[in-house]
Order: sequence, then structure tokens, then C-alpha cells
Amino acid sequence: MRYDIGMNRTDDRANLPRAEAVRTLADWIRDARRVVFFGGAGVSTESGVPDYRSEGGIYAHEDRAEAMLTPRAMLYEPERFWRFYRRWFMPEGVKPNPAHRVLAELEARGKLTAVVTQNVDNLHQDAGSRKVLELHGNGSRFYCLDCARDYDIAAVRAMDAVPRCTSCGGRIRPDIVLYEEGLDGNVMNEARRAIRNADLLIIGGTSLAVWPAAGLLMDARPSARVVLINREDVSSAVPINLVIREPIGAFLADVLTALDAVDKSGADGV
Ligand SMILES: [Zn+2]
Repeated sequence: MRYDIGMNRTDDRANLPRAEAVRTLADWIRDARRVVFFGGAGVSTESGVPDYRSEGGIYAHEDRAEAMLTPRAMLYEPERFWRFYRRWFMPEGVKPNPAHRVLAELEARGKLTAVVTQNVDNLHQDAGSRKVLELHGNGSRFYCLDCARDYDIAAVRAMDAVPRCTSCGGRIRPDIVLYEEGLDGNVMNEARRAIRNADLLIIGGTSLAVWPAAGLLMDARPSARVVLINREDVSSAVPINLVIREPIGAFLADVLTALDAVDKSGADGV
């Protein structure tokens, strides 16, 4: 397998063998002071979370998936909405994969300043990440539409098919951004700030097709290095310096190993 590297131009790349791509990203992480990760569904598919558009994804199983994820369906077809939601957004036993764990580790080492994610599955937090900017909300958090009382996923799992607030009897909804709803302005601003300040931006598991989330990347500073790890080729609004077309978990795990190996040999030499 070959990897592409370019100098601030997506169309100006040289092929890199895998080991060199691993080493390159490890070097860039070592050089960087503020790494930001921007991720999409592909990060979680390796944990068994269904994505939307791929073969085993939600759209392949549900012909009304997009219509189901609307305030209208939530309010006026609650049985159907919750059957859909419980099936696709509340699966049990889903665990973080190496991609989540490596990113949490980079944050713990003071390298990574934020994970900006389009996912709502809480897996970054489960892996130990603290600064997670969730553009589309969090599907494991719920609240009452009437009194705003919060509920966690265990509480909602234990409730009837269409859950009701135990305080006021009101309707409960997941804390995600449905179609036709706006993104949270504060989260967007924080994500924008993190991306503007990043000197290394790692984009993973996203087709960059979902706006306005994908548009955030256009705020990256021209001097920042940009890496894309995605199995399919995508077109990007920002220039990309290194493109890796393989599953993100195994690649990032190897990058962390490379980072540790060099750090260790460097330390031994002093
Ligand atoms: Zn309530």
C-alpha cells in the first residue's frame, strides 16, 4: 500500500510506503504543540457502530432514516422514532477502539488540545478523552422537553419504549442535533478556535461531506500540517499534506508505537 504526501497541495503528492507514512505522522506529532483531531463516522465503525451511508449502514436498512431523525418524527411519531433510535443509537456493549485510545493518550501527554467529532456515541469520552467537541451532540444523554431534567442512557434503557420524564411526565429527547436543527453555536465556536490554533490537524473517518461541520476545516491556518486518514478518497476544501487510506485504528496505534520508540531511543541517548 502507498501513501500520499504533498506540500500544501492536495494534487501534489509523492507516494510513501506505509512505514514511512507512520514515521512521518509520528514526526509531525512530535514537532506539533497543538494537535486537533477532526473525526466522523469512520472512527466509530471500527467499534461496530453503524454509520449512515456505507453498505452495512443505517440508510441501507432504513428507507426513512433521514425523515426519522427529525423533530417532526420525534414529536409526532414517537413509537417509530424511539424504535429507530434505540436500534441505531443505543446499541449495548460498544467499546472504544485503538483510534479513540490513541487520541486520549495524546491528550493525556499534552499534545492534543481537542477532539472535534461528528459522532454522538460517547466513545472518545469512554476512552478517556476530556476535551471532546461534539458538533452533533451526544446520543447517550437525554433531557425532558418540559422540565429539562437530564437522563443518562441507563435510565432511558430502563424506561418504556417511549420514555417519559419521571418528574413531570414530559417527553424525553436525546441530546443530539436532528436534521432541520441548528448546531450549537458555542460548540461550533470552540471547535473553530481549536482548529484555528492547531499546528497539526488530523482528519479521520469522514467523507467531509456534512456541512457546516466540514466547513470548520477551512479555518485551519495555512502553516498547519493537515493529515487525512480515510479509507475512501475524499475531496477537501483545505490542502492536505498526507493522505492515508486505511482503517484509522491500526494506523494510529502504529504511529503511537513509533512515537514511543523514538522518544525512548532519544531518552537513552541523553
Ligand atoms: Zn420533565
